[in-house]
Amino acid sequence: YFCGLRGAMFTPIKPSTPFDMAQQDDHLKRVIGHAKEYGFVFPSSDIYDGLSAAYDYGQLGVELKNNIKSYWWTAMVRMHENIVGLDASIFMHPTTWKASGHVDAFNDPLIDNKDSKKRYRADVLIEDHIGKIEAKIAKDVAKASKKFGDAFDEAQFRETNGNCVRRQAEIDGINERFKTAMNAEDLDAVKQLIVDLGIKDPETGSANWTDVRQFNLMFKTELGAVSGDAGVIYLRPETAQGIFVNFLNVQKSGRMKLPFGIAQIGKAFRNEIIARQFIFRMREFEQMEMQFFVPPGDQGKWYEYWKEARIQWHKSLGLGEGSYRFHDHIKMAHYADAACDIEFNFPMGFKELEGIHSRTDFDLNAHEEHSGKKLRYYDPEREESYVPYVIETSIGLDRMFLAVLSSALRNETLADGSERVVMSIPSALAPVKVAVLPLLKKDGLPEKAREVMDRLKLDHSVQYDEKDAIGRRYRRQDAIGTPLCVTIDHDTLDDQAVTLRDRDTMEQIRVPISELSSRVAERVGWSTLFS
Ligand code: ATP
Repeated sequence: YFCGLRGAMFTPIKPSTPFDMAQQDDHLKRVIGHAKEYGFVFPSSDIYDGLSAAYDYGQLGVELKNNIKSYWWTAMVRMHENIVGLDASIFMHPTTWKASGHVDAFNDPLIDNKDSKKRYRADVLIEDHIGKIEAKIAKDVAKASKKFGDAFDEAQFRETNGNCVRRQAEIDGINERFKTAMNAEDLDAVKQLIVDLGIKDPETGSANWTDVRQFNLMFKTELGAVSGDAGVIYLRPETAQGIFVNFLNVQKSGRMKLPFGIAQIGKAFRNEIIARQFIFRMREFEQMEMQFFVPPGDQGKWYEYWKEARIQWHKSLGLGEGSYRFHDHIKMAHYADAACDIEFNFPMGFKELEGIHSRTDFDLNAHEEHSGKKLRYYDPEREESYVPYVIETSIGLDRMFLAVLSSALRNETLADGSERVVMSIPSALAPVKVAVLPLLKKDGLPEKAREVMDRLKLDHSVQYDEKDAIGRRYRRQDAIGTPLCVTIDHDTLDDQAVTLRDRDTMEQIRVPISELSSRVAERVGWSTLFS
């Protein structure tokens, strides 16, 4: 979320965990290539050479995306009796954005390079500079670790090694200067920091910078035939405000009692200054947000509850316990009394995947003030009316998609020395759950396969494939993450049984067709995640 100078103002600039940059770049490139080749994600308007920071989800991508949405919706709405859904419109009354603070303060500090004419986010340039210092520390740590082996104490090394201490002090100094400048909204000081650090245009090496300016990230358009300021309307930069303005509609019509939540999945739009790194930062993206309304005073306990609930949701997917970390915000936005991010180890290092914010009564109060309508809850137990406090959980669907894709894609060397490309997507999320494969294209096997497919397709997304040798078909399914393959052979016609092959173990077992549905459900159903 934002406040004045967004993001970085409230969190110290903290580079991602040290990593081998080249390796990580390679992995991201592989993910992008694989996503296009197999129909997960295409550049938008590809035949016109794409549009920056816009992407289209292909035939498999849309299935994976829908499954991620279902996993979230089930966990949030169906598993909580006191959370209901909402689908608010993207266009909202423009005063909404005045009240929320976006009109005045949804800004990023930008800087242009006069020679290359390239535009950058000032905070990101500084962040990348810190990343380089951090990488040097990591190199020293790795060297020492190799030298001392098991006896190596990393924390102690970082605290006592001269080079590490000096570099860490350098990082702390930069963070401090940056924070002070941002808090004072002193953009000249931000520019001076860039100059003092000798930061150059990463693409051309030029240090010929303009001043730092504020840039509002909301997309503006016009409503109907009204032109001029009166008709200005915004594409929503977050879905949360649609929930706040509907707080009373939902509470009254649903006779909801506090604490309760409203969940929403929908598109959001931000005119990001730089949108790189594939679907990690886009100008049109999708959010899955939930606002949980609680009595004043209870926000601390619910903040902790949602931190725990959300990390469990992530960890249940099995993308790796070590792939997540919490990043607590040290200095809060004006509306928050506690905030943290769940960061994921993307190919670019640890980056924000989800935000959890204790937003106090800021938003509802602001909407009361700007609309002149009361947004209060009558609490029968306390016998009083008040503006509830809010805990927000906000996750980017596209970032979640990238988290799944990038951790699932790998090369595996098999026992016989051959290699396979496999996407170990959590089975409940896999775009295709079962592939139905007749061993041959004759002898009644395709007909039998269609029969099996008809049974399965009512409950699962199933793909039929009869082309090429069976081994190649297995590989194709591995590459798109299909957890199960069902092969129909000549014996099937006699014994009414099929071969069931597992993506991960590559084990093949014989299963009666009558048991197939339950076997498949056991392997790919939601209970694999929720149990
Ligand atoms: P960042 O610091 O990365 O810009 P943010 O703190 O501005 O993110 P929030 O306003 O907290 O992000 O938005 C909630 C979630 O929406 C983020 O955790 C992220 O997953 C997602 N999100 C935000 N901006 C984008 C974007 N441009 N593209 C894709 N997802 C985004």
